[in-house]
Amino acid sequence: MAGEPQADCLFCKIAAGEVPAEVIRETETTVAFRDINPQAPTHVLVIPKAHHPDAASLAAAEPAIAADVLREAGEVAKDEKVEGTGFRIIFNTGAGAGQTVFHAHAHVLGGRGFNWPPG
Ligand code: IMP
Repeated sequence: MAGEPQADCLFCKIAAGEVPAEVIRETETTVAFRDINPQAPTHVLVIPKAHHPDAASLAAAEPAIAADVLREAGEVAKDEKVEGTGFRIIFNTGAGAGQTVFHAHAHVLGGRGFNWPPG
């Protein structure tokens, strides 16, 4: 069923505390933790605790939780003091766009300059 934990999902295991992660924020519906392979001085992932394969599926199934993820991304930027200098919230969606973990997650990147268009 949509939203149920998946036994083979790394981010479900992090949400459940079964795999260690550097968690910096947690709410009833979300967890924020540092990316294991940071691409910027601030690189934090915000995930819903519920399992959905990508951000679009999450928003379609549980829009209130998608909003929680976005709000938490903003709170991370404040906590990390990158709000004033600009930051990115990125949802890679689909393997062709670089998604490698198929549990919805927002990348919050900040602390350096960014180019447009993105790579
Ligand atoms: P994606 O490529 O958009 O799916 O992003 C997945 C992200 O998860 C990548 O930036 C990885 O570095 C990160 N990642 C993979 N495994 C772990 C982990 O165990 N802890 C924290 N981040 C992870």
